[in-house]
Amino acid sequence: MSQVVLQLNKQTIQKMKSHYAKQSKAKIPPGAAFAAKTDDCSITAYQSGKVLFQGKNPHQEAERWGKPAHPKGESNQKQSASSQHSKQPPAWLFTSSHAGSDEAGTGDFFGPITVAAVYLKHDQLAYLKEAGVKDSKHLSDQQIKQLVKKIVHMKIPYTLLKLNNKKYNELQASGWTQGKMKTMLHHRALDGLLEKIAPDRPDGILIDQFSQPEVYQKHLKSEGKTLQEDVYFMTKAESYSLAVASASILARSSFVKAMDDIAEATGLPIPKGASSSVDQAAAQVIETYGEAKLDEIAKTHFSTTSKARKLL
Ligand code: MN
Repeated sequence: MSQVVLQLNKQTIQKMKSHYAKQSKAKIPPGAAFAAKTDDCSITAYQSGKVLFQGKNPHQEAERWGKPAHPKGESNQKQSASSQHSKQPPAWLFTSSHAGSDEAGTGDFFGPITVAAVYLKHDQLAYLKEAGVKDSKHLSDQQIKQLVKKIVHMKIPYTLLKLNNKKYNELQASGWTQGKMKTMLHHRALDGLLEKIAPDRPDGILIDQFSQPEVYQKHLKSEGKTLQEDVYFMTKAESYSLAVASASILARSSFVKAMDDIAEATGLPIPKGASSSVDQAAAQVIETYGEAKLDEIAKTHFSTTSKARKLL
């Protein structure tokens, strides 16, 4: 049985109540506005505006009324402002067999960019959720390690790409934006994943949105590629899709490993992110190995490079 939760306004709930009048249940739970049962699912709407669709196929029914509720603490407005495009995922996608992709390392001066794509069957979703799969930003490095073990143990199909710093700096110098690099990495990761799982096909593919879909497609076109079928884009997708959350975990884990490797190889502290402590660490690298070293271990076009020079 799957479930979809919507947060709807009073007018919509009134509309629904009359729409389902003939299928309404006599008994309603406390706090409910109405309850109904269709062939595909049962529906319970609460006074609070929360509406539950439960059953063997709740997605289509839910989709008639709205998109899934937003996770706690996120404003609906913020989401809608950044998601004005036609490639928003349909609500049923999150509970179906779908693929998702996400990246790590893009805002970090040191270390590579990593991108992962994951395919989850609908019957694996509940277990992964139970296991604690969620946005890697809300997980410790230790928790991420444990979850990667689970994902590998379950033989979940995934692809993982790493763009090392040398190549990154080369592409950057040749005029590629970071957006274009990310685009080509996501595309390649998804291509590899689709190949891996063939002849199976996901019901849809969700990319954690980092640019408008038109910009993403423009980058693909510039390299003679086209978007795969049934691709959707959504910001903060890792909070909605377990496939994207799993991808974020795999990408993050690979990034953290790469950072540990750099720290070990240089014998210097290699902090994540981009901050004044990163400026200092970069200055230390230059002092110890010369500036050319940064080309191998950092994204040299970041302003960190010039800030580090000033610290010398
Ligand atoms: Mn992301």
